[in-house]
Amino acid sequence: MQSKNINIAVDGFSSCGKSTIAKGLARQLGYTYIDSGAMYRSVALFAIRNGWITDSEMDEEHLRQHIGDIRITFKTNSHGEQETYLNGENVEREIRTLDAANGASRVSTLGFVRKALVAQQQVLGKEKGVVMDGRDIGTVVFPDAELKLFLTASPEVRAQRRFDEMKARGENPSFDDVLTNVKERDQRDTTRVESPLRKADDALELDNSHIGIEEQLQWALGMFNKITTENEQD
Ligand code: C5P
Repeated sequence: MQSKNINIAVDGFSSCGKSTIAKGLARQLGYTYIDSGAMYRSVALFAIRNGWITDSEMDEEHLRQHIGDIRITFKTNSHGEQETYLNGENVEREIRTLDAANGASRVSTLGFVRKALVAQQQVLGKEKGVVMDGRDIGTVVFPDAELKLFLTASPEVRAQRRFDEMKARGENPSFDDVLTNVKERDQRDTTRVESPLRKADDALELDNSHIGIEEQLQWALGMFNKITTENEQD
C-alpha cells in the first residue's frame, strides 16, 4: 500500500494504447482513470449536433459563446467500464465514431476549448491519485506529475488497432480511411499552435509497436514503484 498518491500522465499519438495502459494502471493502483480525449470528443459532438462543424468549416464563434454550456462527466457502468456523459446524456458510443474523432482533433486546436477543458482536468487531479491520458497531460495539465509516460507506435500499427476495435463494435470501416485519419490527426496534433503534442522532457518513452499489453503494464508498474519508493526516501 502506497502512503501517498501521485498523479500519472500518459501521453502519446492517437491509437497508441494509452487508454489500455492508463486504465490498467488505475485498476491495479486503485486510482481514478480520466480519458481527456473523451472530453475533446464530447465538445466536438456538441458542436457537430449544433451544425457548427461541417466537412469544410467550423463555426468558432458559436462554440466560444456556448463552451460554458458543456458539462462533461464520467460514470462507471455495471460492467465496471467508464462512460462519458455530455450534459447528463450517455454519449460513450457516439463519441467513438470517426466523425467525432476528426471533430475532436479540430476543436482541440482552439485555445478557448483547451483552456476550458484543462481547467476541468486540473480540478479532477487536485487530490492526486489520478491516471489521465491525452496529448498535453505531462506538458500542460499536470506538468508536476510524478510519473509521465509517453507512448509511440508506427501509424500502420495504430491504424490496425483502431480498425480492429471498430470491427469488434460492428462497424465496417475501410483500413485506408482509418490510416488516413490516424495520419491527419498526428499532423494536426503535432503542428497546432496551442499545446502541440510533444514528449515532456521528464517523460519516459515507450515504443509499443511490438510489445504486448501485459508487458507494457508491468513496465509502467515497475516505473511507478521506483518513483514512489524514491519519493518515500526523500
Ligand atoms: O485520445 P483521443 O484519440 O480520444 O483524442 C481525440 C482527439 O482529441 C485527439 O486527436 C486530439 O486532437 C485531441 N486531444 C487533445 N488533447 C488531449 C486529448 C485529446 O488535443 N489531452
